[in-house]
Amino acid sequence: MNMYDVILKKRNGEELSTNEINYVVEGYVKGEIPDYQMSAFLMAVYFQKMNKRETVDLTMAMAHSGAMLDLSNINGVTVDKHSTGGVGDKTTLVVGPMITGLGHTGGTIDKLESIPGFKTDLSIEEFIDNVNKYGMAVAGQTSNLDPADKMIYALRDVTATVDSTALIASSIMSKKLASGTEKIVLDIKTGSGAFMKTEKEARELAELMVGIGKDAGRKTVAVISKMDQPLGRAVGNSLEVKEAIESLKGNGPDDLMELCYTLGANMLVMAGISKYIAEAKDRLEMTIRDGSALEIFRSVVKAQGGDTGVINDYSVLGEAAEIYQVKAKKSGYVSKINAKEIGMCSMLLGGGRKEKNDNIDFVVGIYILKKIGDYVEENDVIAEIHSESKESAKAIEDRILASYEFSTEKIERGSVIIDTIV
Ligand code: URA
Repeated sequence: MNMYDVILKKRNGEELSTNEINYVVEGYVKGEIPDYQMSAFLMAVYFQKMNKRETVDLTMAMAHSGAMLDLSNINGVTVDKHSTGGVGDKTTLVVGPMITGLGHTGGTIDKLESIPGFKTDLSIEEFIDNVNKYGMAVAGQTSNLDPADKMIYALRDVTATVDSTALIASSIMSKKLASGTEKIVLDIKTGSGAFMKTEKEARELAELMVGIGKDAGRKTVAVISKMDQPLGRAVGNSLEVKEAIESLKGNGPDDLMELCYTLGANMLVMAGISKYIAEAKDRLEMTIRDGSALEIFRSVVKAQGGDTGVINDYSVLGEAAEIYQVKAKKSGYVSKINAKEIGMCSMLLGGGRKEKNDNIDFVVGIYILKKIGDYVEENDVIAEIHSESKESAKAIEDRILASYEFSTEKIERGSVIIDTIV
């Protein structure tokens, strides 16, 4: 077998065999297949797609490229939540303490590291121990877990091949299978701030991933949710931590809470703790009302070395030097907010990485004051830019303004949840 022939076959739209897919993944991880051939292969997959059988094979080959974790030392049922990625997504920080589950994603890790002292490089033993003691732990991906995904994702990121259904499904599901969780709840986002721009694409991805999970013997549920504006109001690491803590105190924005209750309720039902979604949601609401979710958050921050003072004093997180007000240039009902642009602006302020090794400025970001459905008068403040200087705020002001669309007609916002695929 050689890589040239495999690329040619996929480029011509033919179905690859299991052996061919294993050959590509193994060869790339071993360094026998160079980046330029892998890039061409990924682009061929992007255009010619993969059928379900090929996607399952790719997922399995990636999952087995490194260690397969054994979480059987965790008491009870393990349920993992994973999002396809969106702007302002701090659901793990809120859902985790409510259901005391576990989570690990790049974005979430950066957010938690904005709490002074918080460490996420837990060993697998520390991780299991913390889950048993506190019900929840947050850890970064260990280096030997799914190395194929790490290598392939880095290449997809720079070759415009991220938003491929087969590649997203295999990337996420291979990590979930390798991480040893018994059950999986997926948060599939669609809209301007998501990889899946249309509901149709999101459904296809959801059905594919649920199917892969089932075939691998892991019960999987996918919630499809709207990402046509940032989730909640805060975009940026420490701003999102503040919003998550406020949510745990009962002051969360409606869209964020609705999504958290839906994801959390599905987790409880899958774990067999609740029988029905409605009953599970009631239970979760109680953990906010009686303060128990906030207490779990406090013990997790403490267990992972973070400053628990943050819970009552947000100044522990530090604050941006400049809080710049963005004012509307016209009046009307907010009809759209381009979430991708808002995320991009936060990154440009220093809140995200442009390149792999960039440092993150935790305190910068965007705070959205007016969301879809809100009425705005000309000159009303629609958003705040938290930045290191007035100049850096002014440099993105026009982009924030251009992300907003207005309508003269009243807009009904509706539910953030589109559907649940089981
Ligand atoms: N999240 C992942 O882990 N992988 C993808 O490909 C997209 C989102």
